[in-house]
Amino acid sequence: MATTRHENPLAFLDEELAELRRQNLYRPLRVMSSAQGPVATVDGREVISLSSNDYLGLTHHPRLRQAALDAVRQFGAGSGAVRTIAGTMSLHEELEDELARFKGTEAVLTFQSGFTANTGVIPTITGEADLIVSDGLNHASIIDGMRLSKAPRVIYPHADVGALREKLAEARAKGGAEGKPHRLILVVTDGVFSMDGDIAPLPGIVEAAEEFGAAVMVDDAHASGVLGKNGRGSVDHFGLHGRVAIQVGTLSKAVGVLGGYVAGSQALRDMLIQRARPFLFSTSAPPAVAAACLEAIRVFLEEPELIDRLWANTRRFKSELRRLGFDTGVSETPITPVMVGDSATAQRFSNRLFDAGVFAQPVVYPTVALDKARIRTIVSAAHSDEMLDRSLTAFDSVGRELGLTTG
Ligand code: PMP
Repeated sequence: MATTRHENPLAFLDEELAELRRQNLYRPLRVMSSAQGPVATVDGREVISLSSNDYLGLTHHPRLRQAALDAVRQFGAGSGAVRTIAGTMSLHEELEDELARFKGTEAVLTFQSGFTANTGVIPTITGEADLIVSDGLNHASIIDGMRLSKAPRVIYPHADVGALREKLAEARAKGGAEGKPHRLILVVTDGVFSMDGDIAPLPGIVEAAEEFGAAVMVDDAHASGVLGKNGRGSVDHFGLHGRVAIQVGTLSKAVGVLGGYVAGSQALRDMLIQRARPFLFSTSAPPAVAAACLEAIRVFLEEPELIDRLWANTRRFKSELRRLGFDTGVSETPITPVMVGDSATAQRFSNRLFDAGVFAQPVVYPTVALDKARIRTIVSAAHSDEMLDRSLTAFDSVGRELGLTTG
């Protein structure tokens, strides 16, 4: 039988990729061939890494490694099923109990990632009769969670509590379908915004929500292990225990492993087990992951000096960058953006830093606005003074070379 030659139906991808490259928006992957850490081998070169979310250096902490190895020996490599079928192991339940104690909530349910925690919880608890009110700069996983929900949504300008109050007042006055009061109004915010490093104005958000009978959900992906006592997060940082209905966290950043969780009431946990789609339809974390996460929470509690070191490094690095003449935006946390403007400059800046032995990634459109390209840095508790000094020297010389600072 003669075969006919078909045109490649995916040829448009080549054109779209070429366009991304033309606009300096194409992001090649850099490959790490060492363990994650403050110094890592990336694309075959040993560099100081300012790119990971490994705030406390737990990705390679001896206690986490040991916990993972022990779990593999005792329980094997995989969990073998979704939680509701045969994939709930005692380690998952132990981790959730430990996290609930840590967060000071009635209950916790873990997910495979922070991303799936958000896309699991939002559509589970909201529907047509509800309203979601979301910060304009919330994380992609919150946005996707809202897209999966049948609830209408309104966006308030980033961190603007006055605008949030107006939206809530309007929602209360107008009501939902057929003018009936909403069953639930859910205000959702990141605790720490991952591209700018600013902290959500949570006290104002909680007060506004309480005034209008709304519930608050905070995504503490970048606050877990960073803000609050022993890294309990933004609710603890602001002393708002009991006033935030839902706290989402990730086990993939300061915890150093992989996963996400939802902390809140027992009823919330029970309903997520019945309905949250990533929980119901995707396999649970392998034993090594759950065991290492459990050990990480114990490290948070038993080695508070790691968080002290994280903040000391953060203060030093930020103030030195500013002294060198860089614009570090509105950051208040270890996420420190170095604003450079357009994406071509951001790419060049990052490449030149890499040549100088420093791995700091550019963040460009669509992750941030077209003219807000930046180098995003995160220092960790594991960086030594000497590593920070070498990084600052590289920033200084590349900044001058590209005319971003006068030195
Ligand atoms: N929420 C926020 C605010 C985040 O920054 C991230 C990670 N970039 C996530 C959720 C997703 O977390 P994970 O990597 O565990 O899926």
